[in-house]
Amino acid sequence: MGVVESILNFLLIFLIINGIFNYMAISRARKQAQKIEEENAKLKLQVKEQIEMVTDNICGRTLPKSDAYVLAGDETRHYFCSWECREKYINLLKEY
Ligand SMILES: [Zn+2]
Repeated sequence: MGVVESILNFLLIFLIINGIFNYMAISRARKQAQKIEEENAKLKLQVKEQIEMVTDNICGRTLPKSDAYVLAGDETRHYFCSWECREKYINLLKEY
């Protein structure tokens, strides 16, 4: 085997091993990222359960359910940020 060939073989092996290590590092990082994402999702869910948020369909504001003005419909409840928005919604209902 010539010197050039030996060097090329060495380089090839080095690159392959390097690639394997990189692959392992990347998959480990991916797994960690996935774990963190799952934990984040769990935490978000917990927060959501603690503070249930509702959306005001009139102005689009999101607010805690406990602070919202409620309009109880037949099946669904509607939540509003203010009495004004609630009134607006009722007026809209009357128009239709
Ligand atoms: Zn509003």
